[in-house]
Amino acid sequence: MRLTRFFLPVLRETPKEAEIVSHQLMLRAAMVKQASAGIYSWLPLGYRVLKKIEQIVREEQNRSGAIEVLMPTIQSADLWRQSGRYDAYGKEMLRIKDRHERDMLYGPTNEEQITEIFRDSVKSYKDLPRNLYHIQWKFRDEVRPRFGVMRGREFLMKDAYSFDLNAEAARHAYNRMFVAYLRTFARMGLKAIPMAADTGPIGGDLSHEFIILADTGESQVYCHTDLVEMPVPGKDVDFDGDLSPIIKQWTSQYAATDEKHDAAKFVAEVPADKQVSARGIEVGHIFYFGTKYSEPMGCKVQGPDGKLVAVHMGSYGVGVSRLVGGIIEASHDDAGCVWPVPVAPFEVGLVNLKSGDKDTDAAANAVYEKLTNAGIDVLYDDTDERAGGKFATMDVIGLPYQIVIGPKGVKAGEAEIKTRKGGAKETIGIDAAVAKVIDLVTTGRDLA
Ligand code: ATP
Ligand code: MG
Repeated sequence: MRLTRFFLPVLRETPKEAEIVSHQLMLRAAMVKQASAGIYSWLPLGYRVLKKIEQIVREEQNRSGAIEVLMPTIQSADLWRQSGRYDAYGKEMLRIKDRHERDMLYGPTNEEQITEIFRDSVKSYKDLPRNLYHIQWKFRDEVRPRFGVMRGREFLMKDAYSFDLNAEAARHAYNRMFVAYLRTFARMGLKAIPMAADTGPIGGDLSHEFIILADTGESQVYCHTDLVEMPVPGKDVDFDGDLSPIIKQWTSQYAATDEKHDAAKFVAEVPADKQVSARGIEVGHIFYFGTKYSEPMGCKVQGPDGKLVAVHMGSYGVGVSRLVGGIIEASHDDAGCVWPVPVAPFEVGLVNLKSGDKDTDAAANAVYEKLTNAGIDVLYDDTDERAGGKFATMDVIGLPYQIVIGPKGVKAGEAEIKTRKGGAKETIGIDAAVAKVIDLVTTGRDLA
């Protein structure tokens, strides 16, 4: 993408309304624009990151055996009356009337909708187990939307729903999602740690939040250093096999906890030099809630003995749009964002230091073409802005690698490569620079 044809209205000043660094940088890097409180337009740069995160989530859901669907954002109130949640949900639910005065709502979540779909189409235990998910916008009229996309009112969530014949099978479905989540966040360059959680208004008795550690997190989290260092299951993990040893490892006695739970016990039991105490951001949340919705909504199947049984369900959320801010919180420096390759809006920034100079243009254009032909996503700054401005823009948008082509280097047949993380620079031959960046990007794509 040539910057002269892109849409990147970066801001030089830090907007006053933004309190935390991810919000500041998302505005400065022109990733989002606020439409109203807690509601954002996604500008091209931010939208590219959102799509990459969404795609990683999708790939790992699919790998674990979940099946993608798409349910509507607008739901009927009657559906929520069947589960009893229409009155229970409170002011966070955006309630709407259509022209026939029918009560509708903008979905804050989709348990009811998916239960209805399943109930009306599945009759036998032979159709189990299943896990259906979608990636769809939600609306929750939060009391205090803040921190940009981290606590929005409209936000993108992946929500999956598992259906099983009994509690034991549902436990396996839960374990699959647990492992899929470990892989999902690791692929984004994040260290996400599972923490046993309360089940809240969704109810049930087995639940974990997935937390990333960052100073601006909303909760104080404690865990053992081993948990942060633990290697994540690889691509070859067998989702049909017994996953409980992996789960056990991640939920051991030194598992993460917070103020609301066993923090005091944790501090007493874990050696001081092994204690991690940090702020945490919740990026995912998984629940097993048994027959909480299937029972009242009559979602039953015929079991092997011919008797009707309510299906056991779980639900599994990932905050896709929150992750955009969360990754910035976990990965930035004074100059701007520092994107891990797998979620970067572009993989390489190409800077032409003297647009309009025949030789420099020819060299930069050739590099652009070679990288693009190699399947690399390049943002090519071919504008006539001064060098300082170009460097500042590249740093604030945080692409993992930069290649700088200037008239002096071109005479010597050289280009400068910069790695955004850490800022290491190197001047080498132009072709060698291209080859090296292609190698760095393609190996970095495969983070997990
Ligand atoms: P929180 O405790 O942060 O309010 P929650 O427990 O209400 O979140 P869930 O119902 O578990 O949220 O939703 C699943 C995921 O959706 C959360 O783990 C979070 O990543 C994301 N999420 C929830 N609310 C918001 C929001 N207002 N803005 C952005 N993402 C959100
Ligand atoms: Mg939650």
